[in-house]
Amino acid sequence: YIEFKNIHKRFGDAHVLRGIDLHIEQGEFVTLLGPSGCGKSTLLRCFSGLETVSEGEIYLDGVNITNFTPKQRKIGMVFQQYSLFPNMTVRQNVAFGLQIQKKEKSYIEEKVKEVLDIVGLSEKINQYPRQLSGGQQQRVALARAIVMEPKVLLLDEPLSAIDALLRRNLQIEIRKIQQKLKITAIFVTHDQEEAMVMSDTIHLFNVGQIEQSGSPEEIYACPKTKFAANFIGHYN
Ligand code: ATP
Ligand code: MG
Repeated sequence: YIEFKNIHKRFGDAHVLRGIDLHIEQGEFVTLLGPSGCGKSTLLRCFSGLETVSEGEIYLDGVNITNFTPKQRKIGMVFQQYSLFPNMTVRQNVAFGLQIQKKEKSYIEEKVKEVLDIVGLSEKINQYPRQLSGGQQQRVALARAIVMEPKVLLLDEPLSAIDALLRRNLQIEIRKIQQKLKITAIFVTHDQEEAMVMSDTIHLFNVGQIEQSGSPEEIYACPKTKFAANFIGHYN
């Protein structure tokens, strides 16, 4: 499980995260939902260690990881821009992280095949990113994250560059993979409908604070503030 305790983040005078308290269960799929600039990506970056927090503590399975390096945290991250290595094949892209860890060749080969099978891209193993569609590239990015067997998977708007139909399919696929591997997932989006479809729990953000938390049904049926009603209301 994950615990955020009173997280604050300041960039100079800008008070971007203003006391975030969150509890996330092992295997839970949570979505951080909120308008542009409210601090969603910043919270993910603090959790992965790409940013330091100004105040507060982060726990992973009871261990205080607030001052751990990104490497020590065992967290996988998929970004909005999938940023694959263009001069490497799918196989090489997915194998890269394991090679850096100096894993055995036979282990790497097996593992890469296994995750490409999970994301449905086995037959593209020797292709280059430019030979793939946007959705396929996004799935390679996902494979590259899960091959490391992260405890937690962070997904920062991973579907925003993808057209509506494929997006819907990938929403379902991501959910399936997450459930199959029982990974805890934190998914960031500003798309209300996407949050409704995918989440166990939604945490609605409003300028650096959590406005409301609950299941999609709860938040949809009982928005507690005007902001929540307006933001979720777009779904109607
Ligand atoms: P979006 O939906 O547009 O991705 P977001 O909720 O992910 O928005 P963040 O990227 O977390 O928003 O940014 C929150 C605020 O923090 C913004 O006002 C942004 O300008 C500011 N910010 C983020 N990173 C930095 C930085 N490195 N230095 C200064 N300000 C920053
Ligand atoms: Mg963002």
